[in-house]
Amino acid sequence: MRIKIFISTIFIIVAFTVNAIDYNHFFSRKACRVDFQLAGNATSTSAYIQQIKEEPYWGGRTSNLDKFLNLGEYRFQVTDSASGKLLYTDGFSSLFFEWQTTDEAKHTPKSMEQSIQFPFPKYAVKLTIDKRLGYEKWETLLSVSFSPNDKLITRNTPVNVPVKEILKSSSPEKAVDIAIIAEGYTAEQQEKFFADAQKLADNLFTHEPFIRHKSKINIYAVAALSVDSGISKPHENSWKNTAVGAHFYTFYEPRYLTSPNIFSIRNYAALVPYDAIYVLANTTNYGGGGFYNFYALASADSERAKSEVIVHEFGHSFAGLGDEYFKDKPDALDDMYNIKEEPWEPNITSLVKFDAKWKNDLPKGTPIPTPLTDETKKLTIGVFEGAGYVTKGMYRPAYDCRMRTNDAKAFCTVCEKAVERMILFLTTAD
Ligand SMILES: [Zn+2]
Repeated sequence: MRIKIFISTIFIIVAFTVNAIDYNHFFSRKACRVDFQLAGNATSTSAYIQQIKEEPYWGGRTSNLDKFLNLGEYRFQVTDSASGKLLYTDGFSSLFFEWQTTDEAKHTPKSMEQSIQFPFPKYAVKLTIDKRLGYEKWETLLSVSFSPNDKLITRNTPVNVPVKEILKSSSPEKAVDIAIIAEGYTAEQQEKFFADAQKLADNLFTHEPFIRHKSKINIYAVAALSVDSGISKPHENSWKNTAVGAHFYTFYEPRYLTSPNIFSIRNYAALVPYDAIYVLANTTNYGGGGFYNFYALASADSERAKSEVIVHEFGHSFAGLGDEYFKDKPDALDDMYNIKEEPWEPNITSLVKFDAKWKNDLPKGTPIPTPLTDETKKLTIGVFEGAGYVTKGMYRPAYDCRMRTNDAKAFCTVCEKAVERMILFLTTAD
């Protein structure tokens, strides 16, 4: 018996180590950033490279390099040009994808900034960017090969603004590194920004699984300074000159607060090693947004909800969680999901491919879908209809969750597990 266990343990170790990509062989400790434009209309998408940059720090994962969690509207793959071997892959989402579901996209073509990052390669590589067509179906948008020695890779030093370490738990390669970027803070408000960044961190640690994994998280505050204080509100004819040009009224929705200026955001984030970006907006107005593996943005001084929105938006950007809410009233994001396809977000399902979601975590006998009663409302896990902005055909794991309302006390168990999976994916050796 003992020998058997010993042999199978060795087999598992070998099986994992044979496939692991040797980070130090293929990559330096710097980051490679690729800026591009996503362009098109409601039905077509193209991508055009703008520049390739070498950034001073790689703060992302150094293990699980070729593993893919199947998150995001897009994915990219970096392969070794000599061998064709997959060296690094990741998914990401975009503001552009959401815009494609709006009425404006039906009659007006547009392009929007997008940017990805991976460790800086030591040898020639091929980068491929794909758009998701279904749960596991992809279409290639662009493919580019380049040598790390190319003289036209931009290698200028990042902007110089003050940076403060809010929480330092571990070395960047073993930690989840979060870069908080100031937006709408003037030079005189620098100390307010650092205090607000500390509050953001405190808010994050009111929620599991961040509390129990605090020793794996680093947080930096980057004081990108603005000419004007506050945030633009186009619907009130108020425009401000701010560091990354964030504004309310995204897609004509008063509370939708985003920034289209991804390259500026990345320029500031480049001052620190980072896995995730949080743009903190100096406003008391309620609002925010979050995009998987891209950025989260929220109000620093929202009167209505602070920790709730801060953590909700980070759920989107860090773990790829979907919105579990839905409204009877139509709004700009109504057409985001096709209920005939399984969505990629781990916490919502159309039941088309429920096996890939939380089906195996359901207690035996749980009805699918779960009817909503006073009793089932208390269940920690079920399959409740109404999620992803629609009342019919999309399902969520619990009656309430941080990804549904500001009244929820915490993430539901499925969301908590998805966030934990991401923390471990970024910090644990393969
Ligand atoms: Zn949830």
